[in-house]
Amino acid sequence: MIFTDTHTHLYSDAFAEDRKETINRAISSGVTRFFIPAIDSSYSNAMFELEQEFPNNVFLMMGLHPTDVKPETYKEELAYVERELERRTYYAVGEIGIDLYWDKSTLAIQQEAFQYQIQLAKKYKLPINIHCRDAFDEVFEVLEREKGEGLRGIFHCFTGTEEQALKAISYNLKLGIGGVATFKNGKIDQFLNKIPLEHIVLETDSPYLAPVPFRGKRNESAYIVNIAEKLADIYALPLEEIAKQTTANSIAVFGI
Ligand SMILES: [Zn+2]
Repeated sequence: MIFTDTHTHLYSDAFAEDRKETINRAISSGVTRFFIPAIDSSYSNAMFELEQEFPNNVFLMMGLHPTDVKPETYKEELAYVERELERRTYYAVGEIGIDLYWDKSTLAIQQEAFQYQIQLAKKYKLPINIHCRDAFDEVFEVLEREKGEGLRGIFHCFTGTEEQALKAISYNLKLGIGGVATFKNGKIDQFLNKIPLEHIVLETDSPYLAPVPFRGKRNESAYIVNIAEKLADIYALPLEEIAKQTTANSIAVFGI
């Protein structure tokens, strides 16, 4: 069985002590493909090191995270994203989007940065990886302006309603499902079986959002298996089928 973690911050300081062991633990559990979202330019060296160490398993994205869209620096950071996309291969533009949980005052520039990076993704024929927190309407407003013309990607850490799920799918996006699906109050497990599995990809968002029974602890890519087991329950399908279909979906998005 081959599982794919479509969103994992393996370069995070949370893994400073045992990064290699953590990755090898995932690989021996069958989680062999790691897609790595960017945050801002300060993490690039750590991402490149990770890629060098695990060249067959690690696939990098490039982008500016919405909580790092700051008035003083975002123009420079966006120019960096564009230079990087021009310079070498990345597998998606991400993570990008809107986050109104931490800071509402930057909404206008967050929307501007989001839209600009979607346009970059189209220019380089890449998928996007969307971060959306307390901002469904604002994210959909931008997607509505940019829909069609090669727009595709993943709605990362999807935690919305069934209606919002269908709307995301209508923009050619897959739903990134992670630890929240295993939470008692997570809600998405209530309707997920109505969403065809072809629209679902798996992710941990590690080191955050560990699934049950590790909730509250550091998350790691090996726990993709716990998320997949929950989906096997929800869809009443064998685990092998969940692994196979969600990995095929990840290949359809990233082209690898
Ligand atoms: Zn993330």
